[in-house]
Amino acid sequence: MKRDINGKTKIIGVIGKNIENSLSPLIHNQMILKHSLHFCYLPFQVAETDLNKAIQGIKALNIRGVNITFPYKEKVVKFLDEVEESARRVGSVNTIVNNKGFLTGYNTDVIGFKRSLQEDVEFVIKKKKAVIFGAGGAARGIIFALLEEGIEEICIFNRTLEKAKKIKQDFSPFFPESSIDVFPLKEENLKNKIERAHILVNTTSLGMPPQIDKTPLPDEKLFQPNLLVYYLIYHPAKTLFLRQAEKSGAKIINGLPMLVYQGIESFYLWTGLKPEGKEALKIIR
Ligand code: NAP
Repeated sequence: MKRDINGKTKIIGVIGKNIENSLSPLIHNQMILKHSLHFCYLPFQVAETDLNKAIQGIKALNIRGVNITFPYKEKVVKFLDEVEESARRVGSVNTIVNNKGFLTGYNTDVIGFKRSLQEDVEFVIKKKKAVIFGAGGAARGIIFALLEEGIEEICIFNRTLEKAKKIKQDFSPFFPESSIDVFPLKEENLKNKIERAHILVNTTSLGMPPQIDKTPLPDEKLFQPNLLVYYLIYHPAKTLFLRQAEKSGAKIINGLPMLVYQGIESFYLWTGLKPEGKEALKIIR
């Protein structure tokens, strides 16, 4: 497989703060090569103070579109011309499409997360109970996905309680059948809530390199063997958090399948072509 970069090549990429370890460039460029498309996917490391300029630069440089990653999924919304309906309800954007200078924001994390649960761990969300660590841009997509699929109860634990409260306030009116409770991260209710839960999702950025041995769980004995423990971070594949969960007998999954599935949806928005999940997963396995 060979690629020609020439005057017709369309540029896509990812904008984030710490993207040295992102696997998105590898995944997207392999999909581009496999399907012989005139595209090239690049990493753009952007400081928060330059975020607006970088987004306006998408228009100026005629970039076809970008993924948005940590920590800009919520912050980017105000710089866009339009936000697609479900991304607007989620309140975070991980994909931007540039149509002749008009920028539209989408959230493909929602479908990526759902698909990883269905296809990689065969987890049925309906009527289950969840504990979520974190209330940032990724958490919003995950909580929205769980609510859309009929989860019974969600307990959000976050360092900054106000952000968890805002999620409850934004989402509760649309999902009256599900209950959402919020707690500060060091809440004594943690034990009780985890014992009742079927799935625990860690959406915090704690554990990202170089802090790979940081975990938001105060005591590893709180993990339960009957839990599905999900950690959005995929580099390294098993952080301390997932190793402790696995030791307790819990089933574990990291963020790689979600990264691939959300990437497939973004790729489709930019190119009109939707690669097979299995084919895309082979790139990183
Ligand atoms: P974000 O919007 O910046 O949110 C970060 C979250 O982590 C917030 O809830 C924050 O709490 C919490 N946090 C950060 N440092 C903490 C600390 N020292 N102690 C306790 N909590 C802390 O980031 P994001 O976009 O949600 O991304 C979160 C992580 O998910 C990143 O590592 C990202 O790479 C990963 N991710 C992976 C995928 C995938 O496809 N696998 C998709 C999306 C995101 P506060 O609210 O108190 O600041």
